[in-house]
Formats: sequence, structure tokens, C-alpha cells
Amino acid sequence: MLIVTEEVCKKVVGRTDAFNAVQAVFGAMASGDAYNFPVIREAIGYADALYGFKSGFDRTGLVLGLKSGGYWPGNLKKGLTNHQSTVFLFNPDTGQLDALVGGNYLTALRTAAASSVSIAHLARKDSRVLGMVGAGHQSAFQLRAAVEQREFEKVVAWNFHPDMLPALGKVAAECGLPFEAVEREQLGAQADVIITITSAHAPLLMKDWVKPGTHIAAMGTDTKGKQEVDPELIGAATLFTDEIAQSISIGETQHAIASGLVKESDITPIGEVINGEHKGRTSEDEITLFDGTGVGLQDLAVASTAAKLAKEQGLAQEVQL
Ligand code: NAD
Repeated sequence: MLIVTEEVCKKVVGRTDAFNAVQAVFGAMASGDAYNFPVIREAIGYADALYGFKSGFDRTGLVLGLKSGGYWPGNLKKGLTNHQSTVFLFNPDTGQLDALVGGNYLTALRTAAASSVSIAHLARKDSRVLGMVGAGHQSAFQLRAAVEQREFEKVVAWNFHPDMLPALGKVAAECGLPFEAVEREQLGAQADVIITITSAHAPLLMKDWVKPGTHIAAMGTDTKGKQEVDPELIGAATLFTDEIAQSISIGETQHAIASGLVKESDITPIGEVINGEHKGRTSEDEITLFDGTGVGLQDLAVASTAAKLAKEQGLAQEVQL
């Protein structure tokens, strides 16, 4: 069995590996070759923690396993990140444990890869301004992955806590892009692509603020009750997601579904676009929205890549159980 630490994951897996792994598994999900098992998520009544499992099987890539972890709000005081996760990969032929892989860095990488896959397939080719709503831990990963997909010339950003924006500005500068902090009412007038990545529980991005032709990657809503996008904007957009079942229950479309503004059949798995079964964007004026809810198969795809690369590079520890 291999052990692949957080440090080794950072050394061996980059954005291109994550993009390729996530794009492939979204395609496999849409063709029925990969599926996610029901998610378990529990408030354990200790340390205020939320703990759970996300698991699945990809028959194409032969990746079977689970990501176990959750959210421990007291961790920051202990010098640890609040989100903690570990991936377990099993041999699909024997059921034996193949690898234990640190999941914290990979979670940020695979989440950024998902929005970046959506930009690659759905954003207008002439997109030049990237709009960021959110400036927390995930936002830097999101920005770095997004700017590789189009010839962006500028980043505009808004955050609920404005003091967090300079750190995101530094990331934009490292990517060689000018950065402007704007009011959220103004962000959509400039942005051609907008990523929302916050823990908001009320809409932050309203329909009238977004121009025709915009692509939105709504990435923050991954739980019942969270919300970043005006349901009217969801109703006006062509909708894509990683997994429909998650999108309508815990993703951004949950609110528009509940109020009857959209139906489940209005939402397309992005894998269908990847596989060439759906055209994706069909006009320059269409607003496209990708609801990235985060599925276990994304975690397994990047963790399996990490285990493979770490083994090849002699960086994985081998132990007998
Ligand atoms: P973080 O705690 O580092 O940052 C939180 C962000 O939300 C900050 O920008 C903060 O200013 C903002 N925020 C906090 N309260 C707000 C409010 N009331 N209104 C508007 N904005 C508010 O978190 P993070 O690790 O960057 O994660 C951001 C979000 O992304 C979380 O909701 C997390 O659960 C979600 N997430 C989704 C996926 C996925 O696959 N879709 C994966 C990882 C994280």
C-alpha cells in the first residue's frame, strides 16, 4: 500500500494533471462509466465537526475509493486548516487498500480544475476580464486555474470581507494580470467570466448586473441552504453541472428548482459537452452557468493521479498493512 503525503501531492500534481483527470471523469460520469455513491455527511456532536464520506467508482479509469473528512471549525486555532480530508483508494479487482492520499491540497486543486474545465468548454473564446466573487482559501486556486483557459487581460474582484482582497490581488499579479477591487453591482459589467467561491447563504450576484455572453462558474454552494446566485439569473442561464442529483439538492440550482424557475431537465451534465453530445454554448449572447457542487469522483481522479505520479517519482512510501 502507498502513502502519499500532502507535501508529496503538492510536488507531483499540478493544474494540468488535475484538469485532465477531472475532465476525463466528468466525461466518464456522463457516459455512465463512472458513478458517485450516496454522500454521507453528519454533524457528529463533537468539536462542532461535520464529518462524512464521498465515494464512487470509475470503470474506465479503474478508480475505486472514498474521500473521508469534513469541517472542524476549531482547527485554525490549532494551526490547522478547518477542512480536513484523506482519500482511500482500493484495488477494484481485490478490494485491497492501494493508497492513502492526503486530500487537502487536492480538494482545492480539483475544485479549481472543475471551474476551469467549465471555462474551457463554455466561456466565450474572446473572454478578457475575469470576475472573482470571493477571496478565501479556494479563490487563489480558482484564479490560477481560470486564467490558463482564456487570454485574460484583467481580474476584477469583490469580497464580503474586503480586507481579504489584497491577498487575491497578489495572486493576480503573480499571474501577470492587473487587479481591480470593485463593488459587486459593478463586477458583472466588466467580467466576461465570473467565478463565485464563497460560503454565502444569500444571493450575491444578481441577474441585472451580468451582461449577455457571460460564463459563470458557481463553485461555493455545496450544501443545502448555501446560495451565491440570484435564482432569476439561474432561470435566465443555460445550466450545466458536474452531477444533476447534487446540483438540485445541495448545489446552486436548489433554490431555483424549489421556486419552480427551472426544472431538473433544464440542467446538462458538463460531461455531455466534453463527450460531444451537447453543443454547450450556442450563441455569443447566451449566459452559461456551471454549478460545481464537488463530487467524490473528482477527488478519486486527482488522488489516483497523485498516487501514480508519486510512485513513478519514488516519492510514495510503501507499507504492508
Ligand atoms: P474560506 O473560509 O477560506 O473563505 C470563505 C469565503 O466566503 C471568503 O471569501 C469570505 O469572505 C466569504 N464569506 C464568508 N461569509 C460570507 C457571507 N455571509 N456572504 C458572502 N461571502 C461570505 O472558504 P474556502 O475554502 O475558500 O471555500 C469557499 C466556499 O467554497 C465554501 O462554501 C466551501 O464549502 C466551498 N467549496 C466548494 C467546493 C466544491 O467542490 N464546489 C470545494 C471546496 C469548497
